[in-house]
Amino acid sequence: MAIRGADLLLTKDMLDKLTIEDIDIKGKRVFIRADFNVPLDEKLMITDDRRIRSTLPTINYAIDEGAKVILGSHLGRPKGKPEPRYSLAPVAKRLQRLLNKEVAFVSDCVGPDTDSVTRKMRNGDVVLLENLRFHEGEEKNDEGFARCLSALADYYVNDAFGAAHRNHASIVGIPKFLPSVAGFLLKKEVEYLKGVVSRPVRPFVALLGGAKVSGKIGVLEHLMDKVDKVIIGGGMAFTFIKAMGYEVGDSLVEPEMLELAEKIRMDLRKSKVKFYLPVDCVIAQSMEAAAETKIVTTQEIPKGWRALDIGPASVKLFTEAIQDAKTVIWNGPMGVFEMDAFSRGTFAIAHSVADAYAMTIVGGGDTDLAVSRAGVSDAISFISTGGGASLQLLEGKELPGIAALTDKGKGA
Ligand code: AMP
Repeated sequence: MAIRGADLLLTKDMLDKLTIEDIDIKGKRVFIRADFNVPLDEKLMITDDRRIRSTLPTINYAIDEGAKVILGSHLGRPKGKPEPRYSLAPVAKRLQRLLNKEVAFVSDCVGPDTDSVTRKMRNGDVVLLENLRFHEGEEKNDEGFARCLSALADYYVNDAFGAAHRNHASIVGIPKFLPSVAGFLLKKEVEYLKGVVSRPVRPFVALLGGAKVSGKIGVLEHLMDKVDKVIIGGGMAFTFIKAMGYEVGDSLVEPEMLELAEKIRMDLRKSKVKFYLPVDCVIAQSMEAAAETKIVTTQEIPKGWRALDIGPASVKLFTEAIQDAKTVIWNGPMGVFEMDAFSRGTFAIAHSVADAYAMTIVGGGDTDLAVSRAGVSDAISFISTGGGASLQLLEGKELPGIAALTDKGKGA
């Protein structure tokens, strides 16, 4: 059972930037950069609208305050030119339903039509611009493009946490021209991801998984002197196991990471951080749904077989290690959870995290999908909407999209 009202435990001084509540937006045109990069199926139906719903508090606040709300976002990777399958039109429809209010959709994010529509807006109106990445200036952080976008508005609000690690025009470019503040989602993400790490309630457990050590090394290095326990699952565990001298068959190993993996293990031991690796695993000869599988100890992976999930003994071990935690940060699945045969470990651990009486924080991307497929999203204290952005915050790095906002105390 996740700690509810977890906000109460958090320190509120994690963001040294102005927020939407610090500015007077009545009657003003406000450009809200949202992250509406939602998954769509082949019929262009939205399969998960969590990213849209996460920004509703900011949009509703702006509407209630009487602002003219101009929304901008990217969707997918259209490579700088219009591509119908990456249109934000389905988002406009869903937004309209969620807000219970008309959302005018303009088919370009800049240009004469957009200027004219946004100029005619009345207080409380909402306009959604077409995909910002239909212009190559967006990803190139072109100053002219940023200037055109900024000309649409009086204020800029960044609520796109999932894109805050990008040096793109709508993230770091517009703030050069407009007073720029954080939206509620951005603020909440920072409060959780930075706040918990800076003042965790102990025991504090970091649970890491996913494919590679190299993808999580920054997080591991940043968290290692702050946590009480480190639990490693997923493909990345096998670089550690190999570095200890065991044979791991055809399991995923990053040879260039072996030395560093061993050093981290020794450093953790020296600083008396408890370190857990899988003791057993589900193996197969190929990564195929119908492949024959076996459960073996991690010391007994035969040649030609690869570990694709943690086994039941590891689930038990990790669950016990999580049980007394008061804070858990989880990033990365325990196995190839996308395939039924290798999903049990991840789903079991999702339940263990959800059952812990702790502040539980799940990093975005794959892990949030895993938690949602396990059916326990509601039992997690906080699920980040950002994959790359949440990793960067957990690495202790500053996000360009946050650095670009107006400092507290400066006034907008
Ligand atoms: P990451 O983006 O680094 O968090 O990696 C997520 C991916 O890691 C998922 O798509 C999983 O299928 C994959 N993964 C997890 N465990 C393993 C494993 N034992 N072998 C290969 N891939 C894995």
